[in-house]
Amino acid sequence: MKSLITDHYLYSKTDSALILANSMLDYTHNKKYLKCEIDFQTIIGEIYFEQNKFEIGIESYTKGLDLAKTVNDSTIYSKKLFELGILYYNHEDYVNAFKTLQKSREVSRIAGDSLNEGWSIGYLGHLFRDLGDYKKAEKYHLEHLQLSTIYGIKRSISGANGNLGGVYDDMGNTLKSIKHWKEAIKLAKELDLDAYASIGTLNLISIYIKENQFSNALKYLDEYIEVTKKFDDPSYSQNIKIFQCQIEYGMGNYVAALQKCESSLKMLETSKTEYVQKKLYKSLYQINKKLNRQNEALDYFEKYQILIDNEKEEKARTEIQNIVFNNQIAADSIDQAQEKGLLNATFEASLQKKNQEKNLFLIVGLMVLLLAIAYFQVSKKIAATERKRLKEVNQLKNSLFTNITHEFRTPLTVIKGMTDTIKSNIKNKELDTIDTSIEMIQRNNDGLLHLVNEMLDLAKLENGNMELQLVQADVIPFLKYISESFNSLAEENKINLIVYSEIDTLIMDFDTDKLTSIISNLLSNAIKFTPELGKIIVHINQITTKEQPFLFIKIKDNGIGISSKELPNIYNRFYQTDASAIRKNEGTGIGLALTKELIELMKGTITAKSTLNKGSEFSLMIPVTNRATVSEDVQINNEPATYLSNTSTIHSEQSLETNSELPLVLIIEDNMDVAHYLKTCLTNKYETIHAINGEVGIEMALEKIPDIIISDVMMPEKDGFEVCKTLKTDERTDHIPIIILTAKASIEDKLKGLSHGADAYLAKPFIKEELFTRLDQLVALRKKLITKIQNDEFGNLLKKRTKNPKLQFLQKIEKLINEDMSNSSFGSADLAKKLLISESQLYRKLKAITGKSTAVFLRSIRLKLAKELLATTNKTVSEVAYETGFNDPSWFSRAFKDEFGYSPSTTTK
Ligand code: ADP
Repeated sequence: MKSLITDHYLYSKTDSALILANSMLDYTHNKKYLKCEIDFQTIIGEIYFEQNKFEIGIESYTKGLDLAKTVNDSTIYSKKLFELGILYYNHEDYVNAFKTLQKSREVSRIAGDSLNEGWSIGYLGHLFRDLGDYKKAEKYHLEHLQLSTIYGIKRSISGANGNLGGVYDDMGNTLKSIKHWKEAIKLAKELDLDAYASIGTLNLISIYIKENQFSNALKYLDEYIEVTKKFDDPSYSQNIKIFQCQIEYGMGNYVAALQKCESSLKMLETSKTEYVQKKLYKSLYQINKKLNRQNEALDYFEKYQILIDNEKEEKARTEIQNIVFNNQIAADSIDQAQEKGLLNATFEASLQKKNQEKNLFLIVGLMVLLLAIAYFQVSKKIAATERKRLKEVNQLKNSLFTNITHEFRTPLTVIKGMTDTIKSNIKNKELDTIDTSIEMIQRNNDGLLHLVNEMLDLAKLENGNMELQLVQADVIPFLKYISESFNSLAEENKINLIVYSEIDTLIMDFDTDKLTSIISNLLSNAIKFTPELGKIIVHINQITTKEQPFLFIKIKDNGIGISSKELPNIYNRFYQTDASAIRKNEGTGIGLALTKELIELMKGTITAKSTLNKGSEFSLMIPVTNRATVSEDVQINNEPATYLSNTSTIHSEQSLETNSELPLVLIIEDNMDVAHYLKTCLTNKYETIHAINGEVGIEMALEKIPDIIISDVMMPEKDGFEVCKTLKTDERTDHIPIIILTAKASIEDKLKGLSHGADAYLAKPFIKEELFTRLDQLVALRKKLITKIQNDEFGNLLKKRTKNPKLQFLQKIEKLINEDMSNSSFGSADLAKKLLISESQLYRKLKAITGKSTAVFLRSIRLKLAKELLATTNKTVSEVAYETGFNDPSWFSRAFKDEFGYSPSTTTK
């Protein structure tokens, strides 16, 4: 029954598992089968863990542990502790896993259960390896190896060797890794542990392939094939194929490699672990590249990239876990030191007496157990709070990642890009544009610095390490100056900013930097969240309540407002209301948290009122004191608003005239600097036009029918996904390749973009070469279709049923032309009219798909039919000419020869 529950229900049907386990618990309890009762009690704990109900899980598990205490066999207790440790470990609760495994290790030692002691140490090693602390992992695995060697437990010696092999591989120490794996395999074989030996061989083969030692790799591959024959599991044969593929590839036999990999690919349906997929896609990418199969290579590269990104996210998660883990362990270590000292003393005493007086050992042992249990109870209490904290940290991390990465990546793209541009400018002695580039770098750099400073300030404030640098001066002119420095930013955004104070002077203590930061944050938010033609009022006054004078500042806007549901959260760190569609600028969600902390440091208060779609109002009250040194002139250290500007006057010119022969690229990007950088990249090879947001982008795309579109994702009005969706479902624009430019390069985003029809992705910060590779790929794809259509002498392409929107479009045109075939005056304008699109839209679209102008394409369709008629009917050349809309048979003959390379008379039946 136990195995029925653990093997069949525990991970798939937890409810059934719970019912079964509970009835078995009653049964064993009534029958007084104590050991079984302990088992079921702890299994119930496990099931709750599986259901993510950790608190009840621990409660149930603890009951089991309590029962284990009463059994006359102390190894049961230590085993149960060990199992609980693994349970925590499997649920990635590393802090509790660490504590529990430490405990189980100690208790096992007392109980003389060296196997359990060893495995507890081994798992501590796994834990540190997962956290990326390989040194510590190595230490534990070595300890495990030593212990199992002393006690001569071969199985554990093999295990510890294998674990060391893994850790050394992670550390890049190939020689040591190989040595330990070999030892692990040797022992596993001696013990007939085939499955374990096969894991060892698998690792060895990977290492040898990595090291280009193919003969060794082949030797162990033979062994692997031999050992795994016994198991009826397709994943083994899949591994074999992948290894064969990698070896062939390494030896330069690309065709053979491809064949192996492709047959492994077919098996993906049966076994689909990410590990296998990653290896396979990488190999397929490499091989196809070597074989010059660019499209396939690209395809696999993207698949591989998605998995790699997954891995990066996982790594970042581990790093955060590592920090939390270390903090927690450090914080606990003081409490633990006392308890542990006590425990250790008892352990030592018990060990000494163990040999002398068995009875005494039992009593001491029992005491130890009781102490251990008491200790466990304490950690159980901490466990719940820790888990909650871990969860919060996780949530925090998620929003931090999405917002902060965007905020960092955009300026980094510009800085990186413009630096490259300057380099090549200097090389080519083109010095006139360098000033613009440097100015852009400076501005983006200031923005980044500001962001980093804000984050540091917030951390300082939260640790209580921030102090006010007060001066006593007139605050009114200072406030007016700071507020008015936002005038140009407001103007840029077509917002009316009004600053007025009811008093002319107010001498008080204030911290200039911090007050600047507060006003800047509130004002830049107001500007950010207020649409064009909006109004912002800064109202300054002095008020007195309960005889205490206050400086009062109100910043009021008539922007998008905040809903009453969101309002209480706006001061939370990294919080942003979900207004993505109307969001004018991205942010980090740090500003208001910092503002509030700063105001509180000044012993002031901030309150917010807001109505959705009406506007927001932030009111500050800062108590007036007059204790600091009087200062005549107030130093203003940082110009508040410069880095916020998004318009570079120098490069805001729009080139709407697009007469050039170069392909036309539409850039849809709200950040002027990024747009400018893109333009600089593209000059000489492409003609560019620029739209400042998704909505304008869509309009321009429809009007201009560009050859390629590069669009940002996070944008006001309409975001990049909407741009994709709209343009890819419009017949006029569905043929245009779209490159999505994004800072949010998460898998979900990629998938979202791809599902909306994006053709490629470019993650910020990107380099010029990357951009060109993407563009070249898309242009090459397009050329391929054009050639295909041009070579399609018999029009087969257009006869087929197809899902390709471009071919469907051509079929539709052909049908329309056929309807008017004999009408010689039917031309481009009539065709466009029938299609309900403009003549120039039709022209650009046809040119993009077929490489031909509308008139030439029309003629081709006529000639195609003519050719068919000549070949299948007895009609004369003239008859056919008239029938296909040619007024003049000799003109027809010339056109025919032009198109097909021979005259119509040679075609007649
Ligand atoms: P952010 O960097 O995102 O602007 P803040 O902490 O400054 O971060 O603001 C948090 C959130 O509060 C913003 O993302 C926005 O949703 C909301 N908010 C702040 N000020 C305003 C305002 N004046 N009008 C509307 N929403 C606002």
